[in-house]
Amino acid sequence: MTTVSDTQSLKMLLRKCVHCGLCLPTCPTYDVLGDERDSPRGRLFQMKALMDGVVPADDPSLNRHLSRCLDCRACETACPSGVRYGQILEETRAALPPSTAATAGRTIVLGGVFGHPGRLAAAGMALRAYQRTGAGRVFRRIGGFSLLPPRFGALEAMLPPFQGPVARKPLPVLTAARGTRRAKVGLLTGCVMGQFFAGTNAATTRVLAANGCEVVTPRGQGCCGALHAHAGAREQARARARALIDCFDSSLDAIITNAAGCGSMLKEYGHLLRDDPAYAERAQAFASRVKDIGEFLAELPLRPPDGRVDARVTYQDACHLRHAQRVWRQPRAVLAAIPGLDLVELEGSADCCGSAGIYNVTQFDISMRLLDQKMDRIAATGARIVAVGNPGCAIQIKYGARSRGLRIEVAHPVDLLDRAYRGERSGTH
Ligand code: SF4
Ligand code: SF4
Repeated sequence: MTTVSDTQSLKMLLRKCVHCGLCLPTCPTYDVLGDERDSPRGRLFQMKALMDGVVPADDPSLNRHLSRCLDCRACETACPSGVRYGQILEETRAALPPSTAATAGRTIVLGGVFGHPGRLAAAGMALRAYQRTGAGRVFRRIGGFSLLPPRFGALEAMLPPFQGPVARKPLPVLTAARGTRRAKVGLLTGCVMGQFFAGTNAATTRVLAANGCEVVTPRGQGCCGALHAHAGAREQARARARALIDCFDSSLDAIITNAAGCGSMLKEYGHLLRDDPAYAERAQAFASRVKDIGEFLAELPLRPPDGRVDARVTYQDACHLRHAQRVWRQPRAVLAAIPGLDLVELEGSADCCGSAGIYNVTQFDISMRLLDQKMDRIAATGARIVAVGNPGCAIQIKYGARSRGLRIEVAHPVDLLDRAYRGERSGTH
């Protein structure tokens, strides 16, 4: 729960908002719902009322409008006064009692599964078994999902596909640099990335090695706490942060992530653990070494690949890369360096796709409206590949493409770069 000193600092952060409304046009929920209470300014007003004691923490309206926020932080990018909306929202959510609508389901899922690497692995195995046996297909064929609310069928269809045993093989703890060594880095494997996008983690290791980096991938990393922090479960997030800091050697030149949500969380560890005497300094030092893979490669700089990816590609900015980390030029520069790749800009690429952690589970209808808009724009680019640097967005866009029958591949930029280094022909034109 939020303490008295947190409340004071929250009030100071809230005071920075001058109610100008410049953030409103960038807010996806205000766009689809048209209600000021579902806008950044409206939510800040409601959070201030909570902090001032005007509205109780279990107020249904307050909880409804805070629950509908994606925490996409587009409003932060737009705000000329530097209001740190994401921090205010996450700390306010932490002040809400766990039984309220804004926190209940999230706390169970996040604390019960994502807080424990073993349980998460078991959930992944159960999911793989479900997909391999074809139980879902049979249930769908016999009309089982028609007996359930529509969202169940959609959420089942959204599940990431089973990855073969090779992709799931753990990465070596140490991968040697190719050519002259330029850096020694740690790789965050992540919970969702590790379970469902192991191929991208392997590609990230190969790309780093091809760029002269020695890669250390510690075992037993688990979740970084991002999902917990966004849901307001700050204590669980702190526990995950301490565990992760302990995993990585302090001599590494950088800690690399390929998931926008994780990167944004890792960069905030210094703030998250600022009151922990044992970890405050280490957390600050750790956070300062965190880099998104695109950001790191662009700064290194990238060794241009010889191979080609002959395809039209469009790029979707993950919110926590674009708005939380302000990383948007670098992934585009990395893609543009791939011979043969035709990069076309996506209209509204900085707008949320509706995935937003577990938002597509908790706020299914709004999430699908945002996805619809996104898929219209993706289809208009004529691209055959959508590149995106976050697993949640990849799952959401893949689902959007499947449900429209669009033949579009969704890939991480590093997957495409890896293909170019390996000289694979993409064959996607
Ligand atoms: S959050 Fe920023 S942009 Fe939005 S109303 Fe407040 S000051 Fe204006
Ligand atoms: S975080 Fe996103 S959804 Fe929430 S108020 Fe800001 S712009 Fe709107």
